[in-house]
Amino acid sequence: MYPRIVQDLIELAENLLPGVGRRQATRFIFGLLKRNPSDIIRFGSLIKSLPDEVAFCPQCFRIHDNAKTLCAICGDTKRDQKTIAIVEKESDVTALEKMKTFQGVYHVLGELMPLLENKKGLNSTMLEALKNRIKEKEIKEIIFALPTTPEGDITTAFLEKKLAKNGLKMTRLARGLSSGTDIEYADPETLRQSFELRK
Ligand SMILES: [Zn+2]
Repeated sequence: MYPRIVQDLIELAENLLPGVGRRQATRFIFGLLKRNPSDIIRFGSLIKSLPDEVAFCPQCFRIHDNAKTLCAICGDTKRDQKTIAIVEKESDVTALEKMKTFQGVYHVLGELMPLLENKKGLNSTMLEALKNRIKEKEIKEIIFALPTTPEGDITTAFLEKKLAKNGLKMTRLARGLSSGTDIEYADPETLRQSFELRK
């Protein structure tokens, strides 16, 4: 048995970090123990300040500086606030911003629908937030920029059904992106083309 604190940390790392199993969590914590004490303290204090320093934008769910209400993109009046690209995660926004051509705004789902439990649908709070945003902000176009994977496809199909209403255009990125592509890793030129050719 390891000391209690080490045991607790391993369990926390396993439960809190996505994609990390028991063996990997054990390796992380033991790796950390070998570091300089000042690095461990810095790591711990940064994690401690996360809840106070960072928040999710209440409109698009990107992470941003807690000081402002809306994130920089949602608060930018020069951007087209009526066109929303729906993405899976924060790093996809970064990839799409690298195209430098998209002038609309984003909505970060934070998850895709799991393939094997597709009856479960998407997190209902997120779905409601998206529906309200479309209504309140009089959104004109939704662009599905989800990964070209089975999970991405069923999530897009689910949302197309749930969000359909008169006057709302819904488009998908053109399939210049090969299947299995994560938006985050697509090259900017291919992304730009699939955006322009969206239908
Ligand atoms: Zn935002």
